[in-house]
Amino acid sequence: MQGLMMGTQLLISTLIEHAGRHTGDTEIVSRRVEGDLHRTTWREVQMRSKQLANALLAMGVRPGDRVATIAWNGYRHLELYYAVSGIGAVLHTINPRLHSDQIAWIVNHAEDRHVFFDITFLAIAQGVASRCPTVASWVQMSAREHMPADSVGVEPLCYEELLAAASSRYVWPSFDENTASSLCYTSGTTGNPKGVLYSHRSSVLHAFGAAMPDAMGVSAADSVLPVVPMFHVNAWGIPYTAALVGCKLVLPGPALDGRSLYELFENEKVTFSAGVPTVWLGLINYMKQNGLAFSSFRKTVIGGSACPPAMIRTLNDDFGVEVIHAWGMSEMSPLGTTCKLANKHLSLPRDRQTRILERQGHVIYGVDMKIVDPDGKDLPWDGAAFGDLLVRGPWVMREYFKGDGGDPLVVDDDGLAWFPTGDVGNIDADGYLQITDRSKDVIKSGGEWIGSIDLENIAMAHPDVAMAAVIAIPHPKWDERPLLVVVKKPGSTVGKDELLAHYEGKIAKWWTPDDVVFVDAIPLGATGKMLKARLRESFRDHRLPTA
Ligand code: ADP
Repeated sequence: MQGLMMGTQLLISTLIEHAGRHTGDTEIVSRRVEGDLHRTTWREVQMRSKQLANALLAMGVRPGDRVATIAWNGYRHLELYYAVSGIGAVLHTINPRLHSDQIAWIVNHAEDRHVFFDITFLAIAQGVASRCPTVASWVQMSAREHMPADSVGVEPLCYEELLAAASSRYVWPSFDENTASSLCYTSGTTGNPKGVLYSHRSSVLHAFGAAMPDAMGVSAADSVLPVVPMFHVNAWGIPYTAALVGCKLVLPGPALDGRSLYELFENEKVTFSAGVPTVWLGLINYMKQNGLAFSSFRKTVIGGSACPPAMIRTLNDDFGVEVIHAWGMSEMSPLGTTCKLANKHLSLPRDRQTRILERQGHVIYGVDMKIVDPDGKDLPWDGAAFGDLLVRGPWVMREYFKGDGGDPLVVDDDGLAWFPTGDVGNIDADGYLQITDRSKDVIKSGGEWIGSIDLENIAMAHPDVAMAAVIAIPHPKWDERPLLVVVKKPGSTVGKDELLAHYEGKIAKWWTPDDVVFVDAIPLGATGKMLKARLRESFRDHRLPTA
């Protein structure tokens, strides 16, 4: 027997309709590449998305066509999020920090029909245009007066002119909620990038999940600033979640340095934010150097790579900001787990609570997870046993775009299909996950595994360490041994012995790194994560004193 409820499809257009109709005058503030601060509202974004929808249809965009963006976080990017997906086309967000060869490869693989780009990315467009035969037009996301005179090779259309010529009368079409809505490529640290193709249903359900109290926990009372870029897994879904709850949205554009962010946080009374650990380093340093405090900022999600406990402590104790440690990946839209205390934890002493909050957290409804041994057998949830982490759920990927990489899923003894994350972790008796490593970063010493994240977190807690990475170095006796790579804080004279002594009593003795090297910088990838593969390459010939 079928239920007798309306079969309203879960479409991304329902989010902007909701925000425009019910929280229409709530502000969207953007720092523009033009240099100024721009103010609009959800109602205006709804109206301009409809204009853009009409403009896209006039350009010949058809359902299923890929329309790409190379853009910062800003209101025009937001309009593209809604207009492109709203008409049934696929929004392909490109990471501008990738190498131009990779960008050209991705545009060709996605067969993008149109590419919308911020003024600051004209050189990227010019660099790849001749290699991108599927692209019918390049559109510069600005008004005519901000278009540079020299745009040889691209001859872009003007975004504001396209909108001005289009009507704002448009009724979003209804179609199957499983239709593709957007496309993101993984960073491809090993081999070519692979496309993750989200659907309307997965995006709307993820937006619900992300808004929940134990996840991001945002509401209409919040002023939300996503530092995480809209080209990195849809800014962790915040453009959708913000419309769903109808909150104020503050989009920082290209200015992600400590000073610019601090100004925006204060002037726009930001209450909630989200970003990878490395972006917070800049902001924290700027604020410490200038003796500044936050007046409204109260909570942030940090994820994308392990958030060092020292960073959680600093934000909490020195700046009054609650940190929600989160874990996920492009293939999961991206949210999998978020770390908040459960009722049973509330009576625990503060240090026990802190230790729980350092973990990657509990699954959000919709996601299920488990850890397995190399034979695929379930491992116990005792906070000690660790193994390969598998996930499943409505916003978890089933296969990559165009079937690249074959069928990634594994089927367990109960016949359930799971996505192997490539991460290694343990789960405690209350269901709280701790990621110990990515499987390719694990250090295999004498047949046992050493998790690099723990070793990095301990180094990061030393007052003289600005950034730390631990990588595997080949060893004649033990197979591999850990090497600690450190960027010192300016003016520090800390040495190897002191840093190694800092590990005493905190871990099993045999986990202690065999050596320490000091570097000026650790290479970061296009989404702000440490490039450990590059570090391993650089130190391939490093001779450990124990070798
Ligand atoms: P990529 O970096 O490959 O482009 P993602 O941005 O999707 O892909 O990164 C996903 C990966 O980042 C996860 O599989 C995991 O290894 C790592 N990661 C994300 N959040 C955390 C976290 N809180 N702690 C540790 N690792 C994390």
